[in-house]
Amino acid sequence: MSIPNLPPPNKRLGQNFLIDLNIVRKIVALAELKTSDHVLEIGPGRGILTEALCRATGRVTAIEVDPRLHAYLKSRQAELPNVELICEDALAYPVERLPIGTVVVANLPYYISTPLLFRLLDQRGRFPRMVLMLQAEVADRLVANPGGSDYGVLSVMAQYAADITKSFRVSAQCFRPRPEVASAVVLLRAKERTRLSQQEEVAFRALVKAAFAHRRKTLVNSLRDEGYELSSVAERLKRLDIAPTRRAETLSVEDFLRLTLVLV
Ligand code: SAM
Repeated sequence: MSIPNLPPPNKRLGQNFLIDLNIVRKIVALAELKTSDHVLEIGPGRGILTEALCRATGRVTAIEVDPRLHAYLKSRQAELPNVELICEDALAYPVERLPIGTVVVANLPYYISTPLLFRLLDQRGRFPRMVLMLQAEVADRLVANPGGSDYGVLSVMAQYAADITKSFRVSAQCFRPRPEVASAVVLLRAKERTRLSQQEEVAFRALVKAAFAHRRKTLVNSLRDEGYELSSVAERLKRLDIAPTRRAETLSVEDFLRLTLVLV
């Protein structure tokens, strides 16, 4: 089969391709892959990371939405014998089909990195480790502590589900075309045990979203505006010794957990 020409990058699909093999090596090393591992790669693009993953591990599932890049990689399938190439939107792909223990390694398309993160974290029992290249600003939100403007729904939900390390920043020069935003690689290790039941987790997610829905308002006012009963919230906060005048961004993940447990 002849190899199709490399298609030009499509900016709308977040196509900033890695060109630095040293960064590829650092990403793969961080994933601590064994030959028995199954890896999920979202957005293999031109395959620079895919090739390295294919050498480091037993099986790779690579989901690419761009049919031109999918066709390009397909034509190179002989070089990537243990890679299953799937042409689909990763947000629609049923990740539940992947084996438990799958490691996620990806240079994510930045325009959908947040919904993808939520989707992967939702399935954290399946994905014990994730090594992800993200825009630096999202990496900062993932590891943010209470009190700052980076701290929000993503920080609370991700830190509840995983231990997160911002591992290293990646210069725009390592990509073609160069992205307009700074990039960073993060390692997320899913927590084996979390404190809430499935039903409590639904309440936790709703509470955190409602608390941050009006960032400038106090916690009670934001919750009231989102349909929570004011007197009941105020009474629960008092019981937990959390001042009702506090804003959501000052509450720790632990505070949100305690509040969920007294509200359900
Ligand atoms: N892994 C390659 C690399 O490191 O050079 C490409 C990374 S590039 C930042 C993101 C890739 O994700 C592109 O190939 C893009 O076409 C693909 N992509 C964009 N949206 C996607 C989606 N919804 N589902 C799957 N892949 C997507």
